[in-house]
Amino acid sequence: MPTLCQTMSAKLIEGIPLAAQFRADIALEVQALNAQGKRVRLACIQVGEKPESLLYVRNQKKLCAELGIEFEVEMLPDEISQNALIQKIHELNQTPEVTGIILELPLPARINTFMCQRAISPQKDAEGVHPVNLGLLVYGVAHHAPCTAMAAYQLIKSTGVELRGKEVTVVGHSQIVGKPISLMLLHDFCTVTTCHIATKDLAAHTRNADVLVVAVGKPGLIKAHMVKPGAMIIDVGVNRIPLKDKDGNPVLTEKGKQKYATVGDVDFENVKEIAGWITPVPGGVGPVTVTMLLRNVTEAAKHDHGPNL
Ligand code: NAD
Repeated sequence: MPTLCQTMSAKLIEGIPLAAQFRADIALEVQALNAQGKRVRLACIQVGEKPESLLYVRNQKKLCAELGIEFEVEMLPDEISQNALIQKIHELNQTPEVTGIILELPLPARINTFMCQRAISPQKDAEGVHPVNLGLLVYGVAHHAPCTAMAAYQLIKSTGVELRGKEVTVVGHSQIVGKPISLMLLHDFCTVTTCHIATKDLAAHTRNADVLVVAVGKPGLIKAHMVKPGAMIIDVGVNRIPLKDKDGNPVLTEKGKQKYATVGDVDFENVKEIAGWITPVPGGVGPVTVTMLLRNVTEAAKHDHGPNL
C-alpha cells in the first residue's frame, strides 16, 4: 500500500485514465442492462440557449453515445415559468425509460433552483444533489452522490493511500463539493476539518492536512507554504484567467482576442515541489466528474424503484 511520501516532486493523480477505466465499466454495465431489456437514458433539461451550456450539453451527448447511453434534450424557452418547469420535471419522473435527469444551471434568476432540483425524483437525480440523496450520504448509503465530490473521492482512492486516521482539510463548504466530500472522508475514518470563507487561519488548517481538498474558485489560493510536505492535494477549482507573456503583456489569439488559461485553486508549479500527490487542472477532477454523472444514470437503471421513494 502506498504511503504519503516526504520528498518531491509530487506524483500526478490524473483524471483522464481514471475516467477511461470507469467509462469502460459503465459501457459494459449498459450493455448488460440492455441485454436484460432495461434502458439507460439521460434527459437533460436546458432552459434558454446559453452558449456555455450548449457546449456542455453537446459534450454530454457525445459521451453518452460513446457509452451506449440514450440521451435526450428538453430545450425549454427562457421565459418558462417555474411551475411549467416543475411540471416538465414531473413528466420526466413518470417516464419509465428515462433513468437520469440533469437540470442545466444556471436557471433564469426568477426561478428557484433548489425547488426545481427537489422536484427531480431522487432515483433519477443524475447529479446527486437532491436533499434525499445528500441525506443518505450522511448514512453512508447514497446510490447517487454529488458527481464532483465523488470524482474527488475516487481520485483520492485511486492512489491506494490508506485513509484511516489521516488528517484531511477540505477548503470550501458548498452543497455539491465541500460538504459531501467531507462526509465521504469522514466515513473512511479520516479526521476532517472543513474550511470556508469565515475560517480565521486557513494556512494553519491546510498545513496540518495529509490530504487537502480545495474547492473554492480562487486561482492561487493555496500556496506552497500552506502545504504539508508529502501531502495529497486534490484541486477541484476551475478558473479561467487571462494569459500573459513573461513581460506581463496579454497573449492574444490570431484575431486579436485575449487568450485564457484554465487553472485550479492551487499554485500548481510551486505546490508540486512540496506535495506528495497532486491533481492537475485541467485533466484532474473534471473528466471524472462527468463520468460520475453517467455512472449515476446507469446505477439508477439497475434499481427498479417507482418514480418516487
Ligand atoms: P461555491 O462558490 O458554491 O463555494 C465556494 C466555497 O469556497 C464556499 O464554501 C466559500 O465559503 C469558500 N471560500 C470562498 N473564499 C474562500 C477563502 N478565501 N478561503 C476559504 N474558503 C473560501 O463553489 P463550488 O460550486 O463548490 O465550486 C468550487 C470550485 O470548484 C469552483 O472553481 C468551481 O468552478 C469548481 N468546480 C469544479 C467542478 C469539476 O468538475 N472540476 C465541478 C463543480 C465545481
